[in-house]
Amino acid sequence: MLKLAIVGASGRMGRNLINAIMDDEAVTLGAATEASDHPLLGQDAGVVTGRGACGILLQDTLNPDDFDALIDFTRPHVTIKHIKLCAAHNKPIIIGTTGFNPEERAAIDTAARHLSIVLAANFSVGVNLTLKLIETASRVLGDTADIEIMEAHHRYKVDAPSGTALRMGQVVADTLGRDLNTDAVYGREGHTGEREQQTIGFATVRGGDIIGDHTVLFAEDGERVEITHKASNRLIYANGAIRAAKWAMLQPAGLYDMPDVLELN
Ligand code: NAD
Repeated sequence: MLKLAIVGASGRMGRNLINAIMDDEAVTLGAATEASDHPLLGQDAGVVTGRGACGILLQDTLNPDDFDALIDFTRPHVTIKHIKLCAAHNKPIIIGTTGFNPEERAAIDTAARHLSIVLAANFSVGVNLTLKLIETASRVLGDTADIEIMEAHHRYKVDAPSGTALRMGQVVADTLGRDLNTDAVYGREGHTGEREQQTIGFATVRGGDIIGDHTVLFAEDGERVEITHKASNRLIYANGAIRAAKWAMLQPAGLYDMPDVLELN
């Protein structure tokens, strides 16, 4: 039985991960952590998620003997600490956290030389299929269409555009030989001038309890193609992350993404 550690266990994703683990007979919860000032420390992780007691209490430290792989949906600086712990004890880490800066991203690349890491901007199987569809549409329409990426999330999301929107932009850029560093336009205001064809636009909406909507628009003269994914339940990410953890246990050191896990490449 695969023992998983869930960090950020009482967060939105943490609770869904614990729920998903309790419904999966192939895995078990080995450890659950929260920030050292968190009011729920010491509570049973199962109770915190609204399920029955599971015997694992929320703690602010991790014992590497308690788990085989770690799943981290927290904040970038927290995730970087967990990568160091996993690297020291050779435990695969599944990272859902978004919003890494270039320095933190480089630290992940370095750790992956000796550790199996799955880093995905989005663990949903549907989103990863959507990325494939975006690649196809970019190949067929990209030279003539104006491409815009729109995303909407709940009011608590702290980074923008979403990691998934950026990933979608990267797929478009890679397929068309464009550079997101120079061709991305993050919002428009005032006298912007006419749209330049090679740009890839991003628009962000934040509000309510929207779990995650993404649309890539390919706008031609006379017709538009829109590729949309809408998440209505965070369990899709939790189930994807657990699938990734099972898969990562069997892989050599390296930095992997969900298309690797799903063999979409
Ligand atoms: P959240 O704020 O609800 O949860 C984060 C949790 O981490 C909080 O409970 C917080 O107390 C805890 N935490 C903070 N410091 C900690 C520490 N030192 N040790 C242990 N826990 C600590 O956030 P969320 O909505 O669950 O999202 C978390 C991250 O996951 C965000 O970056 C979000 O963008 C990302 N996310 C990714 C995907 C994906 O598929 N890749 C899906 C959903 C969310």
